[in-house]
Amino acid sequence: MRYLAIYIGTILRAINSLRKGMKLTGYYFTHHKEIVTHQYPENRKKMFIGDRFRGEVILTHDENNEHRCTGCSACEIACPNGTIRIISKFEIDPETQKKKKTIDEFVYHLGMCTFCNLCIVACPTDAIVMSKDFEHSMYDRKPLTKILNKRGSKLMKGVE
Ligand code: SF4
Ligand code: SF4
Repeated sequence: MRYLAIYIGTILRAINSLRKGMKLTGYYFTHHKEIVTHQYPENRKKMFIGDRFRGEVILTHDENNEHRCTGCSACEIACPNGTIRIISKFEIDPETQKKKKTIDEFVYHLGMCTFCNLCIVACPTDAIVMSKDFEHSMYDRKPLTKILNKRGSKLMKGVE
């Protein structure tokens, strides 16, 4: 008898749960404007992505192909899993004729990145930011290793 009561109780709870779900479905069926979920990828053009979304680390460049990375390696040191590798070189500063450390390659292994943001916080010159781009799936891992400094780019004047 006890098992029958448990059995019937379970069925009643399931029906109640279904009723609650269908009530919500019915509500949004008649209140289209209040729907907050989006159909992806059909909504690509008008998709809302919050400012704090972390899609990928990028090194920003301005219209003169200049960036703010001094090659200090703070981001590389801050990264907990070796996602970043800073390869730097020394160049002669044409103004002071002194040796100056500059970035040669900023290597970023997107496939290893956990988007923890520690590198961004560690950067003293705000050279890197998180982009909102999140469509990274592919069959080959190789393109996920990126060189973030653009070809021919240089350090912005005044950034030390
Ligand atoms: S977001 Fe985190 S895991 Fe990704 S590169 Fe920066 S520190 Fe490394
Ligand atoms: S991105 Fe920032 S922290 Fe990383 S090497 Fe460049 S200046 Fe240093």
